[in-house]
Amino acid sequence: MATILPDWLHARAKTSAHSLAFTNGQESWTFQQLDDMVARVATRLTQSGVVKGRRVALIVSGEWQAVPVIHALARIGAVLVPLNGRLKQQELAPLVADADVDLIIAQDSFPSSFGTAICLENLFDKLNTYEPMPASFIDLTATQFLVYTSGTTGRPKGALLSFGNIYASAVSSAIHLGTLPQDLWLHMMPLSHIGGLSILFRSVITGSGIVWLNRFDPQTVFDLLHRYPITLISVVPTMLYRLLESDESFGSNLRIVLLGGAPAPASLVEEAHRRNVPAVQTYGLTETSSQIATRLPDDAYGTLSSGPAIYPTQIAIMTPQGPSFSPYQHGEVLVKGPTVFQGYWKQPDATQATFWNDWLRTGDIGYLDERGYLTVIDRQKELIIKGGENLSPSEIEAALLAHPHINDAGVIGVPDPQWGQVPVAIIATDQSISRDELHRWAQLHLSTVKQPTQYYQANTLPRTASGKLRRRELAAMWENGQYAPI
Ligand code: ATP
Repeated sequence: MATILPDWLHARAKTSAHSLAFTNGQESWTFQQLDDMVARVATRLTQSGVVKGRRVALIVSGEWQAVPVIHALARIGAVLVPLNGRLKQQELAPLVADADVDLIIAQDSFPSSFGTAICLENLFDKLNTYEPMPASFIDLTATQFLVYTSGTTGRPKGALLSFGNIYASAVSSAIHLGTLPQDLWLHMMPLSHIGGLSILFRSVITGSGIVWLNRFDPQTVFDLLHRYPITLISVVPTMLYRLLESDESFGSNLRIVLLGGAPAPASLVEEAHRRNVPAVQTYGLTETSSQIATRLPDDAYGTLSSGPAIYPTQIAIMTPQGPSFSPYQHGEVLVKGPTVFQGYWKQPDATQATFWNDWLRTGDIGYLDERGYLTVIDRQKELIIKGGENLSPSEIEAALLAHPHINDAGVIGVPDPQWGQVPVAIIATDQSISRDELHRWAQLHLSTVKQPTQYYQANTLPRTASGKLRRRELAAMWENGQYAPI
């Protein structure tokens, strides 16, 4: 396979010059205009010392200007280190130090101990006075991103993703979901996460436009759905819950609502379908450059699976005999394909441990069915082992979340002298729910072994920017007595 390709955005600007590339609701850019803006930002960045192959941190909390900057870094061939601007400076400091960046681009100012920093918005001052940087070629083997994993199971790890990984991800996704000339993405996923980043490159590679939403808010989502003929959205389960709480119509243009990032309860998918929202489960991780298995709307009904692997990725299940494609064998989910990452930054041991031959070990437990569709049960590390039985906290959370008065739920395994571990639930609700009611609900929806032994109440549960439950933090808060028993 060729390892160099023409600059993606520049090639798109030639073939779809006048199509909508990007709008932030106030201003809009065609692909040609976006290409021109990106070329000038690239010159501006080069003058600030950004060079090919070196790392640049971009600390973002939804500013649309991050989009042209990300494309400009790709044009230069610099390695983007996207970081979540909602993190506190003391949380960002170890990531910036670990990434060993040449430059920080951020909205806020940072202490000089962080390194050289420039202001994101200032990059756009007098932009027209900068000459456009000519587009060159993209080396598919070069690293494009150093993305830190969400850190839900330990210290965040820096995953290195190549231009080839991102290209393969966009093309595989397009083959799987199909593309329509009128495709328009509503982008509301954080750019510090692979889910948000990958949409930018799918847009350029497939020629679909982006409607930008800087911060998720259900009412603004409905306003945008009425204002633009949006066909595609990516959401995490907590976002879909909040959207479905509203009676507003989702309109008739949506063709796929990709639901991923964490296990989604069947009740959520069913409620979406009842409202004619084409929500489909999708499964992926940072280390696979986003989605690797996705259901399609036509066959999504009534099941929890994340569907088949997207072409040409392969998914198998680890068994004592090695990788297996046999149906209904439970074990660690393994992945092989062109979107699998290059390795962890500065962590050769972790990289080695995450591969079994050329299969990526995802750390998730799941199974394939007779059609090869994948169902993800939970993270291996988070299973609760009660008297030798493996319980999935996500499954227990899903049952609790189906209760009409429970807004959020988190389940942790706590030590127990008789069983080893037992499940305990922490729920967020704005109603008063009695312990008896919670027990009654659990008895109705869960087998005895899975029923939480205790319930606690919280105002909100700790979640990441991409909506994942921070179960370790939840457990620590529970241990510190921060939740009131019900
Ligand atoms: P860390 O590796 O630092 O703990 P993380 O695994 O949360 O972070 P991500 O790469 O953002 O970092 O998340 C990938 C994980 O999200 C998957 O391994 C899986 O556990 C979960 N996930 C994603 N999509 C789904 C899905 N459809 N169903 C179940 N789990 C999902």
